[in-house]
Amino acid sequence: MSSIVLGCIADDFTGATDLANNLVRAGMRVVQTIGVPAQALQSDVDAVVIALKSRTVPPQDAVTQSLQALSWLKAQGARQIYFKYCSTFDSTAQGNIGPALEALMDALGTEFTIATPAFPDNKRTVFKGYLFVGDVLLNESGMQDHPLTPMADANLVRVLQAQTRRKVGLIDHGVVARGAPAIAARIVELKAQGVGVAIVDAVSNDDLMRLGLALKDMPLVTAGSGVAIGLPQNFGIAPSAGASHLPPRDGWQAVVSGSCATATNRQVADFIARGHPALALDPLQIFQDVAKGIDASAKALAWAAPLLKNGPLLVYSTADPAAVKSVQATLGVDDAGAMVERTLAAVARGLVALGVRQLIVAGGETSGACVQALSVAQMQIGPQIDPGVPWCYAKSASGADLHLALKSGNFGTDDFFSKALALLP
Ligand code: ADP
Repeated sequence: MSSIVLGCIADDFTGATDLANNLVRAGMRVVQTIGVPAQALQSDVDAVVIALKSRTVPPQDAVTQSLQALSWLKAQGARQIYFKYCSTFDSTAQGNIGPALEALMDALGTEFTIATPAFPDNKRTVFKGYLFVGDVLLNESGMQDHPLTPMADANLVRVLQAQTRRKVGLIDHGVVARGAPAIAARIVELKAQGVGVAIVDAVSNDDLMRLGLALKDMPLVTAGSGVAIGLPQNFGIAPSAGASHLPPRDGWQAVVSGSCATATNRQVADFIARGHPALALDPLQIFQDVAKGIDASAKALAWAAPLLKNGPLLVYSTADPAAVKSVQATLGVDDAGAMVERTLAAVARGLVALGVRQLIVAGGETSGACVQALSVAQMQIGPQIDPGVPWCYAKSASGADLHLALKSGNFGTDDFFSKALALLP
């Protein structure tokens, strides 16, 4: 098994897929793992992205998880480490970006790294150290009201300085625009001033490609997923169709949807309008079934079993906001969510047991529950279906390998489900 060149540590699950997707589009063959693997890497790839759940845990836990990921990646031969966080720099005054970044720097014995969430393709740009989301500053983007990581300041030098003992500086756009030699000279200057971490401006993909060249010999890069587009060139890797190659498709096709986002409601309606069989799960009915000891997932699987051979089908709890509110008023927000997630995860597991090998899951939390129920430990990243959502090839611990597309909330066009199911060769 050849060793990897790039080892990535992502602080959440869908963020890891986002990064993996960008690396694949830039030509790297990528595997994403769910947590730190217990064994050595079994695949021949250029990069591994380890998905942690460290964004909102206590800082010491984030440090421990990140260091475990680092030591596994180093053991697989990673020549450069990429610590990936959200493109809205989601963090609190305590962290976890600062503490994790600092611990990785210490462990790698490096005195300098960069930090930038810039991702122009997704309208995240950094200018003079200020993060813009679309046309507005971060703290006017809605992120100031985020329930877990409210972002009240768009000045990333200040935000990061509050989370780290190392001195934070800035490589501004005037430098980035002049290219890699100017960026390298600025890094020498900042180091001489005692700066350990530099926020970097970037407002376009050209900026990210120039920055990428300047990061060639940096042991640790910390960023959103955007910077990833400029790194493969340093390893002699260029975009190619081969990078997203997955094994050919096999088995039946199904969609499980627990997302109630506007886009998902449209996607469910579109799929039904095309005449595919669809079963709606009513949370109040599931609740009554559970009370009577009836297994709601078994009922759904009995419906699906004879239909699978005819073509793709859908099992969904997706509902409009009024219906969701009414369910939540009766069952409680958390209890309703957890009960539906458990049911859909059992449906996903049952569908795979029935021979489904191409499975689309709609909903971020729903995806997490399904991946867990399927005991998926790692996924090879394949072709992009829509921005941020690739087809993956998952090795599940149960031995059933399958194609999996995990679509969060508002991602994807209205015809996402049928488009995705037609995409695999
Ligand atoms: P998204 O990515 O769109 O946010 P998630 O799967 O992350 O989707 O979250 C949707 C949440 O809503 C899950 O906890 C799911 O179990 C719950 N849910 C799904 N359908 C319903 C429904 N009909 N009523 C109430 N809650 C629901």
